[in-house]
Amino acid sequence: MRNSDEFLIATSNKGKLKEFKKLFNNYRLFSLDDFSIKDPVEDGDSFFENALIKARHGVHFSKKFTIADDSGLVIPDLNFEPGIFSARYAGKNATDKNNRDKVISKILEKNKKELDAYYVCILVGLRYENDTLPIICEGKLHGKISINSSGDGGFGYDKIFYPDGFSSSMASLDDETKNIISHRAIASLKFIKALQS
Ligand code: IMP
Repeated sequence: MRNSDEFLIATSNKGKLKEFKKLFNNYRLFSLDDFSIKDPVEDGDSFFENALIKARHGVHFSKKFTIADDSGLVIPDLNFEPGIFSARYAGKNATDKNNRDKVISKILEKNKKELDAYYVCILVGLRYENDTLPIICEGKLHGKISINSSGDGGFGYDKIFYPDGFSSSMASLDDETKNIISHRAIASLKFIKALQS
């Protein structure tokens, strides 16, 4: 039950799951769908609280070592929006496009074409229920959020996010590159190091 080579990744987001499967390629990963577990209500006030809520929910129902991520886009000049509301910025059932359109309209309201922004990912790992010493790792990726969309890959805000040092959007990068530079890759690498130490 506590096999350290097997984890539940407590997400039902297909884009994240695809990335995690590559990032944790030496481990056996299960998803919420594998256990027919529904997403919990994310009512925390921070990325960390929401990741902990998801990890607790996952470990409770699966009885497996659970890793949960809470991630999102932060735009300091827009009062740090969308932040923890990234998945539902344009409303409860918003699509990725609805959310991107809302960000674009906010950038235009400021009479700008782009703003500084960053992606953040907090990973929380719970080995078993009532684990009092969660593994917590953070990753950030800085760049610009733009009114110009490009690329067909990725998910979420990737079509309008241009990482520092790259002239193309996150959605234009190949999976391999995204899985080296992304906020989730940085946090996952730290997590794997923590597991091995
Ligand atoms: P969560 O599932 O509550 O953590 O919400 C994460 C949301 O943040 C996603 O639905 C996306 O809108 C956004 N997000 C997080 N990571 C990424 C990424 O790597 N690319 C694009 N959008 C992301």
